[in-house]
Amino acid sequence: MPAATAGHTSVAAAGAHLGWPDVTSPDGLFPDGLRPVDVLTVVAVTDVTPSVRRVTLSGDAAVVAAAGPTVNLLVPRVGDPDPRWPRIQRDGRIVWPEGSHGIALRSYTARRQDPAGGEVDIDFVLHGDGPAAAWAAAARPGALLGIAGAASLAERPARWLLLAADETALPAVSRILAAAPPGTAGVALLEVAGPAEEQPLTAPPGVELRWLHRGTTPPGESTLVVDAVAALDRPAGDDVFAWVGAESAAVRAIRADLRGRWGLGRAQHHAIGYWRRGRAMSPAG
Ligand SMILES: Cc1cc2nc3c(=O)[nH]c(=O)nc-3n(C[C@H](O)[C@H](O)[C@H](O)COP(=O)(O)OP(=O)(O)OC[C@H]3O[C@@H](n4cnc5c(N)ncnc54)[C@H](O)[C@@H]3O)c2cc1C
Repeated sequence: MPAATAGHTSVAAAGAHLGWPDVTSPDGLFPDGLRPVDVLTVVAVTDVTPSVRRVTLSGDAAVVAAAGPTVNLLVPRVGDPDPRWPRIQRDGRIVWPEGSHGIALRSYTARRQDPAGGEVDIDFVLHGDGPAAAWAAAARPGALLGIAGAASLAERPARWLLLAADETALPAVSRILAAAPPGTAGVALLEVAGPAEEQPLTAPPGVELRWLHRGTTPPGESTLVVDAVAALDRPAGDDVFAWVGAESAAVRAIRADLRGRWGLGRAQHHAIGYWRRGRAMSPAG
């Protein structure tokens, strides 16, 4: 193993002891207390829409079960046959190898996890630049992808649900809608480039799916979702939950609207920037 850097990156670790070898075992493989990251292998690549590529990865049942819903991916350089993976401390922190490794840490969402079948699907928006988008664009069966940890979507069931998202958050939206109790009411405001980018979603009958087409406006420059939330009246009662995932500036505006005009408390909303216009998401690459 390469020497470890002192700098650490903390990741949420839902799969608390996933992949931990028995460090007290006689083989003594991990005397420094670090564990290897979990590594999945690409088995299929399909285009969901013109700009969304689904990468199906295979791995052990336990690894697949813990690889989501939100997953911290370790993305190697395109074509790297033998990535220099970091390792993970017991507290979930990543310990990077010293020197150039070319591995980028990025957050994604497992669109589908099938532990019994040993498969997980991740839908990548092919937005152009960026290690993760480039890796997905070039992904072929046999390519490797590391997993450094996982976390929840932080959604909560409620009688009335607002979802506000762009295409990067459609995997999360699909999971939230699929898991919502059948009596849930609400609206999902979903920004994509155009009709060809819409995806079939299973939702409770009381949740309206409203697709918003930004057309030729570049992603991150449209105010469609912000404006659509601003045009909504606050539903009555307190059994309301709002989940927001999109470009950071849009999310900030929506969060302010929900906290201000709607008066939602912290337990009634989760609004997180999924990407930042003009900026990479992580310094780790
Ligand atoms: C919890 C969470 C879950 C996520 N789940 C998914 C998911 O399932 N699928 C998915 O596709 N994304 C998802 N994202 C968003 C994804 O992590 C970001 O888009 C990330 O920036 C992609 O990394 P990258 O290496 O391709 O580009 P980066 O190196 O981060 O960025 C390079 C450049 O690309 C631009 N850029 C990044 N994303 C986009 C975009 N979507 N459109 C246009 N320009 C962009 C940046 O502004 C920057 O200029 C998620 C984000 C979070 C926080």
